[in-house]
Amino acid sequence: MGPMMHSVRNSRLSQVSYEIRGSLFELAEQLERQGHRITRLNIGNPAAFGFQVPDQLMKEIVSNMSLAQGYCDSKGLAGARGAIEQYALSRGIGGVRVEDIYIGNGVSELILMCMQGLLNEGDEVLIPSPDYPLWTAAVNLAGGKPIHYRCDPDSEWQPDLQDLEAKITSRTRALVVINPNNPTGAVYPAAVLKSMAELAAKHQIAIFSDEIYDKILYDDAEMTSIASLTQETLCVTFGGLSKNYRAAGFRAGWMILSGDLKGWAPYRDGLTVLASMRLCSNVLAQLAIQSALTSDRSINDLVLPAGRLREQRDLSFERLSKTPGLSVWKAKGALYLFPKIDLEMLGLKSDYEFCFELLKTKQVLTVQGSGFNWITPDRFRLVFLPSVEELGTALDRIEEFCRERAEQHAGAKV
Ligand code: PLP
Repeated sequence: MGPMMHSVRNSRLSQVSYEIRGSLFELAEQLERQGHRITRLNIGNPAAFGFQVPDQLMKEIVSNMSLAQGYCDSKGLAGARGAIEQYALSRGIGGVRVEDIYIGNGVSELILMCMQGLLNEGDEVLIPSPDYPLWTAAVNLAGGKPIHYRCDPDSEWQPDLQDLEAKITSRTRALVVINPNNPTGAVYPAAVLKSMAELAAKHQIAIFSDEIYDKILYDDAEMTSIASLTQETLCVTFGGLSKNYRAAGFRAGWMILSGDLKGWAPYRDGLTVLASMRLCSNVLAQLAIQSALTSDRSINDLVLPAGRLREQRDLSFERLSKTPGLSVWKAKGALYLFPKIDLEMLGLKSDYEFCFELLKTKQVLTVQGSGFNWITPDRFRLVFLPSVEELGTALDRIEEFCRERAEQHAGAKV
């Protein structure tokens, strides 16, 4: 029997999508091969836009390289985990032991591991809409069922707690929080997080809080870790070097287990097995973690007034606010804006069509909002990592595109 007589891949993959590197990304690559210069506003990869890993972190890695030759403990190097433990304390997450900290090849690997270790067929996981799509993909791949709760664009993208509660069933196993949020840039107030923690505790649901942007905050935004607000259920808090320390290529992330570890002991043991099966994560990258967490403050210079990220966010917000056919909320954290498209005014059918036409006619690559599991196909995500000059040119092109579309469509209607 030839291989095509039976399925040659996991059928769950048909429910998995990751549009940040999806079909528009492939089209952009094709256009580049044909000689076009594409401005890539699709992916939060700081190094691609001239951001550098802080010198001290580089030095730690280079000078200690010889220590990274062997596998280490499957949960990670003791020094790095000790620093993460202190970091958890500084965030108000009490009672964390080094044994409850796991280092991975980026948060991405840990998300997959966490869902694989938790879910049985049909178990439900509450995920924000919109979300960072790896969460939805990881749940589907593990055989679970992603259930999206609404975040409200009219209330600074805060989670709709009523919608969230209404979606809890006897199959719900976990609540995912992404704070600061990708793609919306929302940062959640302590009171909202407290309500979410109470709901999770009441229904004995574990909380998974993805806080990879926790130091990328603008204006008056204040970061609260949901794990600091509850001891009554299991809380898993994720962080890493990719964004705060601009080291996305190092592939270094961690997760901190806190709260009701007794009740969730079988799950914790399962995670330990999964971590052991992949031996350990990249040891070289782990060498930078201690120094990053104990002494590097360089992110502050980027997010404070006159800082590069802050200026780029402000420019993107101002320009998109004035662009016909778009409306946008000013992100309080992370690296993205998530504008709404007036499809009617621009004579377009969907967010995908918007991004497709923008790419083909103006060489600017963005990602359609539905790629982030947003309910209505009427938004796109823009990454504001490029320099003010490069971003300015891309924003000019977006404005040109919208003006031209609006004029053509108004003309076509008369
Ligand atoms: N979580 C969120 C919310 C992200 O936006 C990203 C990357 O963009 C990740 C996780 C992946 O991070 P890592 O580089 O640590 O795998």
